[in-house]
Amino acid sequence: MVLFFINIRFLDVLDILLVAYLIYFVYNLIKGSVAINIFVGVIAVYFIWRMVSILKMEMLGEILGQFFSVGVIALIIVFQQEIRQFLFMLGKARVFDKGFKLKNILLGKWHLSQDIFLNTAPIIKALENMSQSFTGALIVITRKNELNTYVRSGEVVNADISAPLIESIFYKNNPLHDGALVISQNRIRSAKCVLPLIDSEDFPKSYGLRHRAAAGVTKYADAIAIVVSEQTGHVALAVNGKLYAKQTTAQLKKKLEKHLYEK
Ligand code: ATP
Ligand code: MG
Repeated sequence: MVLFFINIRFLDVLDILLVAYLIYFVYNLIKGSVAINIFVGVIAVYFIWRMVSILKMEMLGEILGQFFSVGVIALIIVFQQEIRQFLFMLGKARVFDKGFKLKNILLGKWHLSQDIFLNTAPIIKALENMSQSFTGALIVITRKNELNTYVRSGEVVNADISAPLIESIFYKNNPLHDGALVISQNRIRSAKCVLPLIDSEDFPKSYGLRHRAAAGVTKYADAIAIVVSEQTGHVALAVNGKLYAKQTTAQLKKKLEKHLYEK
């Protein structure tokens, strides 16, 4: 086929489709983690490099080319966690397993937390009690990404979710009350975790670190965060870097349903 003086073979079309699929696959893999910005950046630099090569701008082409030869190693280091999780998932999947769907892996939907239903009742109960007693709390619920970096920054708990356990963790004299509690795959994974703070200029200055950390983790990772203010007893919910203040139990339930299982 001759199109605008360019020869396009069947294999070229296949080539383009495979590359498009590969980019889509990697995008799905890292959607919701900080790595997505790096991925977009790398793709942008790659296209600039190709343009520069086509235009025969040799010096710039050479510099970008060098950047790319080292870049592959840098990428493996940056995406270490994602690559590990992917290999882990592949290794775990057995073809005869009921839960294993090749289609999901091909679509990049291989995250472990995908099908697990979260038992929200004890979390809501604990939030109500902590709100009444003005007990400061910060709970992170992971969505597709397990947030291993933040989980590792705290102390491992690895327990079933229960209201008394959550309340006792945030009880003032408990050594684990500081920082955030991370819930993942319907388990309390760890407590005392350190989260990234939101740096957004338009985040209200009146909020302290607990609220900034809640908004931060939901902006930089795929998670939902809930805060109980020690000062006011109000419960706030953070999603995608945005904070919904003064949530009633009914509002909280509704938003959790909506945002936990949203694709
Ligand atoms: P409150 O309304 O409860 O006072 P606040 O938004 O005003 O909340 P601070 O008073 O600054 O926040 O709360 C401090 C607490 O927030 C700390 O004791 C700690 O438990 C928690 N915190 C602060 N920074 C982080 C962080 N980066 N990651 C996790 N938790 C944090
Ligand atoms: Mg405060």
